[in-house]
Amino acid sequence: MSELIADIAVNVPLKQLFSYRVPESLHDRAKIGMRVDISFGRRTTVGFILNLRRGEAAGLKDIGGIPENEPLLTSELIILLRWAADYYCHPIGQVVRSALPAGLGSDKNVTTIKTELVYTPLNLDMQLRGKKQQEVMQFIIENGTATQSQLGKRFVAAHAVLKRLVEIGALKSAIQERLRDPFWSEELPQDKSLILNSDQGIAVDAIDEAIAKNIFSGFLLHGVTGSGKTEVYLRIVERCLNLNKQALILVPEISLTPQLVSRFRARFESKGWRIAVLHSGLSAGERYDAWREIIRNKIQIVIGARSAVFAPLQNLGLVVVDEEHESSYKQGEGFRYNGRDLALVLGRQFGCPVVLGSATPSFASYYRCEQGILQRLALARRVHEGALPVVEVVDLRGQVLDGEITNVLVEAIQQALENREQVLLLLNRRGFSPFLLCADCGESFHCPNCEITLTYHQHNRQLRCHYCDYSDVVPEHCEKCQGTNIEPQGAGTEKLELELSELFPTATIARMDRDTTSRKGAHQKIIAAMMARKIDVLVGTQMIAKGHDFPGVSVVGVLGADTVLNFPDFRSGERSFSLFTQVAGRAGRASGGGKVYIQSYNPDHYALTCAAQQDYHDFYQQELPFRQELGYPPCGYLVNLVFSGNNSQQVPGVARQFGNYLISIAAGVDVLGPSPCPLSRLRGKTRYQILLKSSDRVQLRKLLNQLDSEIIRIPKQVSLAIDIDPLDML
Ligand code: ADP
Ligand code: ZN
Repeated sequence: MSELIADIAVNVPLKQLFSYRVPESLHDRAKIGMRVDISFGRRTTVGFILNLRRGEAAGLKDIGGIPENEPLLTSELIILLRWAADYYCHPIGQVVRSALPAGLGSDKNVTTIKTELVYTPLNLDMQLRGKKQQEVMQFIIENGTATQSQLGKRFVAAHAVLKRLVEIGALKSAIQERLRDPFWSEELPQDKSLILNSDQGIAVDAIDEAIAKNIFSGFLLHGVTGSGKTEVYLRIVERCLNLNKQALILVPEISLTPQLVSRFRARFESKGWRIAVLHSGLSAGERYDAWREIIRNKIQIVIGARSAVFAPLQNLGLVVVDEEHESSYKQGEGFRYNGRDLALVLGRQFGCPVVLGSATPSFASYYRCEQGILQRLALARRVHEGALPVVEVVDLRGQVLDGEITNVLVEAIQQALENREQVLLLLNRRGFSPFLLCADCGESFHCPNCEITLTYHQHNRQLRCHYCDYSDVVPEHCEKCQGTNIEPQGAGTEKLELELSELFPTATIARMDRDTTSRKGAHQKIIAAMMARKIDVLVGTQMIAKGHDFPGVSVVGVLGADTVLNFPDFRSGERSFSLFTQVAGRAGRASGGGKVYIQSYNPDHYALTCAAQQDYHDFYQQELPFRQELGYPPCGYLVNLVFSGNNSQQVPGVARQFGNYLISIAAGVDVLGPSPCPLSRLRGKTRYQILLKSSDRVQLRKLLNQLDSEIIRIPKQVSLAIDIDPLDML
């Protein structure tokens, strides 16, 4: 007899779906995308129905139950998830799990639907006696309906009044689902209406055409900060909504882009369109509610970080990826997908345009423009004709420095302070010093879990590992020679802050790095203080380079540029160029004529000279031959296989065996290594990597498929992570 069978994704490290029989009693409720209770092995867990079919069910277990009344996944999303599981070689159950908001994919039902009482007028003409009754009634009539919590916030003793109004038949009440909406009480910001300039007009027209035609096309919107990219996004989103389609906006991190969110709300919420903002600050309930509203097609715009690419939209007409060069689009652990790349896959799936926006595009995206795969739209000028800043590369060779800051930069800061202008200093290293050294024997202090030195933090006199967070007190004497001359070496943001307060004792100096922004809202506070000009000099890590518009800044300094330039990764040139260009773009936003100083021992490095000229194309041309010659992305494809485990002998042995096997079956793919990872010990684990490189994606794919199908025995104690298109190979 043919029965109803569900193929279910379960959160286990296995690639396949698992089949269960759908019992007669659940036939009506079983739909694709629904969460189900199942018994798996000896435990009970949850899974998701990805497919329903008829077939022979002998030997299959029954589904245990279906908790919700609606699916949590759409069929469109299931297509994307299955594609991603395959492409990133990751178990489908875990892919589903990481796509869903926390709490939805897990075994426990931490999320529930909340309800509340809603009041609507029943008899508008009724004569009411009390003043209170009249006020409450008036409010409800004006709003059409009102909820218990709304009324409770507005009127004292609302409960009793409402009860009375229902009793006398002036109002009726009903129970409704309540949405937990983080913006509920915030005021709507003011929208500005603007006339597009000619560059913006060209960009909007080109994208509009693709939206209207319903075809996939990829665009790179290349424009410096302040050139009006956000205004372009707003226009094309509006176009998309007017055609009854939805828009998805990806941003690197919501907390860093409050301005973007409020501009979207200002433009669209007043017109009755609804926006869902997905971010890590939402409670599990808020996320669940947002997700449900999206599935029910009640949301027109979704704004969110990387994982919002999995928002269950069904009528997508446009995808925007803002600051597309940001490495945070790539998930570094577990399911290692790239949100920007999946955005392009999504565009193809829905037949809609995808717009990648950046002031400093990723090398890969610029390359694709040159290849004709993406269409480049340039916004060449800043909207408010502020001239681009003048950049000076300060040669450190042969200079004897007292601290970190050269005399030219000291003078520039002095001048800015006298003019009551602000200063931004970038040093991409937090803490006081990157390491402590015994001046007697040269011994330095390492993390016991990781292969790196411990950073000295002065404010709490601690040594900290920036990878595993191990901490220790500063030792009184050297373990090796018992000497007591232990000295901090090199500088981090904390030391720079101290140096500045000594140089400029009357200035207000603040610091923005991971240490000063760990508390919720701390980051926003620093930005607000900067905007209000309560800070004269802001010191910080790369955080200060991101998208903020500080009109009062006239001088920017880049310290420690050489650490960024010499980072052991083939993308170090690209990252340096991008970081320096972005931070330089913070100078002279309002006044024009800002000045930027980059201190370096490599003043002729092309990443520096091109950043100084703000010349992307020149950088591209100098970088390209190097990538071509070595076959590095985007001129070739990479997969990184990372082996890790507790046993420092076993891990390299397993990696070597695996490597030999790979070499024996690889065709058209270079097998590089195994070699110790740059961080060869991390959190107590020994780590080795094998890098697969090929100019042909198909060959690489074939090799990976072979790994899938053949059983290569890796001992339990060693784990293997497959990183497709890796970004970070430390
Ligand atoms: P980006 O996103 O590239 O940094 P924005 O879109 O935020 O640039 O624009 C920078 C500033 O210029 C904003 O204050 C914005 O309101 C304003 N702006 C953008 N386009 C125009 C325009 N066509 N006319 C006048 N002002 C504009
Ligand atoms: Zn460590």
